[in-house]
Amino acid sequence: MQFGSVAFFKMLIKIVLAIVFFIPLVLCIVFAVLLWNKSAEVTEIRQDNERLEYYAAILSGEREPTVKGFYDVYARSGLTDEELVDYVLHGKDSGDVLAIATTPAGSEPINTPTEDATAEQTASSEPTAQAAPEEPESPYTALYPDMTVTPPAEDEYVRELGTVYLTFDDGPSENTYSILSYLDQYNIKATFFVVPNRTEGCYEKLRAIAQAGHTIGVHSASHVYNEIYSSVEAYLEDFHEAWDIIYDATGIKTELFRFPGGSVNDFNTATRDHIIQEMTRRGFRYFDWNVDSNDAGGANWTDMYNSIPEDIAENYRSFVLMHDSASTPNTVLVLGDVLQVLVNEGYKFDKINNDTLPVQFTGPFT
Ligand SMILES: [Zn+2]
Repeated sequence: MQFGSVAFFKMLIKIVLAIVFFIPLVLCIVFAVLLWNKSAEVTEIRQDNERLEYYAAILSGEREPTVKGFYDVYARSGLTDEELVDYVLHGKDSGDVLAIATTPAGSEPINTPTEDATAEQTASSEPTAQAAPEEPESPYTALYPDMTVTPPAEDEYVRELGTVYLTFDDGPSENTYSILSYLDQYNIKATFFVVPNRTEGCYEKLRAIAQAGHTIGVHSASHVYNEIYSSVEAYLEDFHEAWDIIYDATGIKTELFRFPGGSVNDFNTATRDHIIQEMTRRGFRYFDWNVDSNDAGGANWTDMYNSIPEDIAENYRSFVLMHDSASTPNTVLVLGDVLQVLVNEGYKFDKINNDTLPVQFTGPFT
C-alpha cells in the first residue's frame, strides 16, 4: 500500500472510524459496570441502614417488636450497642444513606473496581473449594432425599420497592373461599402458608388457591411447636408431610415456607440454627414478616384497619402476616376494606415468587 494511494485513504478512514466508535463503546461498558457495582453497593448499605433503624426503634421503645425473641435476634446480629448509637447519632439524623457504610467505599469509585476484581478472583476460588466438601457432611441426607429444590442464584433475587406481599397462615379453613373472593375482587395475588391435611375438603381448597394463581408455601402439618422444633428429624418429618400433601393436591413442589411462630421463637432456640442450615442445604427459602396484622393476637376491625396501612407505609416493601383460620374471623371482616385503602394509596401487590428476596428476622428485614 502506497502512502497517499486510494487504499491508504480507505485504511485511514477505517482506522479513524474504529477509533471514533470503539473508544466510546468501551468507555460506555466500563462505566456501566462501575455504575452497576455502585448501585448494588448502595442497595446493600440501604438495607443495612433499614435493619439498624429497626433495631434502634425497638431498643429505644419507639416501636413494638413484631418478633418473639427480638432481643435474641439482636444479640445474634453481632451488632454492638456502640454501632447502633453511632448510627442513631450520625447515620440516621443526617439522612445520609452512605453514612454507616461498613467500609469507606464512597471515596474512590474509579480505583476500587480493579482492586475488587482481584479480590473477588482470589476469594472466589477458595469458598467453592471449601463449600463443596461440606455438603455430604449433613447427617440428614438419607431422610427424604427427593425433598430438595434449586434456589435462584444470589444475584437473581428480586426486591421491589413498594410491593405488598399479603400472606395467610394456618389455612385452609372455613374462611379460605371468602379470602379468595376478596383477593379476586381486587385482582391481587397473595401467598398462603398452609397447614394441610389429607382430607378431600382440604385438597379442594388447596386446588382453589393454586388455580386462582396464588402461591402456596409450607407452614406445617401439625403446627405443634413442641414436637416440630424438638429436633431436625422431627422438623423434616412434619415439613415433608405438609410438602407432600401440597404436591398430591396441586402437583406443586413448593420451594417456600414459613416457620410456625416465625424463624425465631421461644420453642426453637436449641434447634433453630440446625433446622435452618438443613432447609437451606435443601434449597428451601423461609419468609418471616415485617408487618403483623395481629389478627391472631385478637386485633379487632378498627385495630387492623388503622395499623396495617400505617405499618406498611414504614417499609421499603411489606410482608403482611395474616391468618386463614377459623379462630381469626376479623381478618375476613376487615380484608376488603384494608385492600381498598391500600389500592387507593397506589401500592403494588404480588404473591411471593421463587425469586422474591426473603424477609427474615435475622435480616434482611425489608
Ligand atoms: Zn401458624
